[in-house]
Amino acid sequence: MIVVMRNDATDEMVRMVEEKLQTSGYRTNRSVGVSRTIVGAIGDKVNLDARQFELMPGVAEVLRVSEPYKLASRAFHPDDTVIKVRQACFGGGTLSVMAGPCSVEDEQQMMTIAKQVSSAGAKVLRGGTFKPRTSPYSFQGLGLEGLKLLRAAADAFELATISEVMELSQIDMMMDDVDIFQVGARNMQNFNLLRRLGETHKPVMLKRGLAATIEELLMSAEYILAGGNTQLILCERGIRTFEKYTRNTFDVSAIPVVQGRSHIPIVADPSHGIGIRDKVAPMARAAVAAGVDGLIIEVHHDPDHAMSDGAQSLYPQQFSQLMDEIRTIAWAIGKKLA
Ligand code: PEP
Ligand code: MN
Repeated sequence: MIVVMRNDATDEMVRMVEEKLQTSGYRTNRSVGVSRTIVGAIGDKVNLDARQFELMPGVAEVLRVSEPYKLASRAFHPDDTVIKVRQACFGGGTLSVMAGPCSVEDEQQMMTIAKQVSSAGAKVLRGGTFKPRTSPYSFQGLGLEGLKLLRAAADAFELATISEVMELSQIDMMMDDVDIFQVGARNMQNFNLLRRLGETHKPVMLKRGLAATIEELLMSAEYILAGGNTQLILCERGIRTFEKYTRNTFDVSAIPVVQGRSHIPIVADPSHGIGIRDKVAPMARAAVAAGVDGLIIEVHHDPDHAMSDGAQSLYPQQFSQLMDEIRTIAWAIGKKLA
């Protein structure tokens, strides 16, 4: 942290800043320039509130030089973390695709979609059974029964499974049927849930919150890593902006930014990212071109009758074509699809 003093700051004001930093556990380094004095704080107190210093007399501004997250940071772990789940691999130059319906609806639906996405090359079957719906009157998911259908369809086609966990009490009941716990956008800052998932050893995919900054996403990741679970994948799924022609604004820039700052793999969810079926493939291609470590895509064999998110679900044929395109784009940038 660097505290820049105002040009009219007195020596006494500089001393007060130094003392406060020292009592907060920092070593200090004063640098006197022609018009301004700068106090450098040396130490790794990552969670000190910079505003305490901004309010002190004579202070012009406070600049943070190190990130507030540690375990998630690339400085802490320079090499890419690679997450392997059954046949899927995320990170380190390899990407895998997760696909399936928004919600698990019935056995025939799951078997049909699992067959189609696996033959197109997906390695993980998605399907929500505990659904975070904006309206309490919308379909809330099949719960435990849905998990069994997800597992059975995935096993029939040698796929791994991913499904959303919404609350603490669901963690144990989902343990056997899911290979990856999905933390939804609305729960990105459900810190109790994150802490408890940090105590498990199962992979977690953490989605970016509706209005979360990249730093907030990485701080939430830190909760899971701090508990000892390093099996973590991040997910860019679009953020809320002023734009009305799309469901969310898909932030492709988050992909290289996260990869620069963190070793944790990041996947993209272009389905929720843009929310319109015929715009999903261009966003998926853009994410792969940007270097993403994986994709999660909603696919439905009969999207017009889907219980949720039909309008953003690809037809199996569209998905299969997209997979061919993704293979080519990945190859062009020196990555491979697993
Ligand atoms: C989902 O994946 O179906 C979902 C609800 O996603 P999000 O949490 O990103 O809205
Ligand atoms: Mn959905």
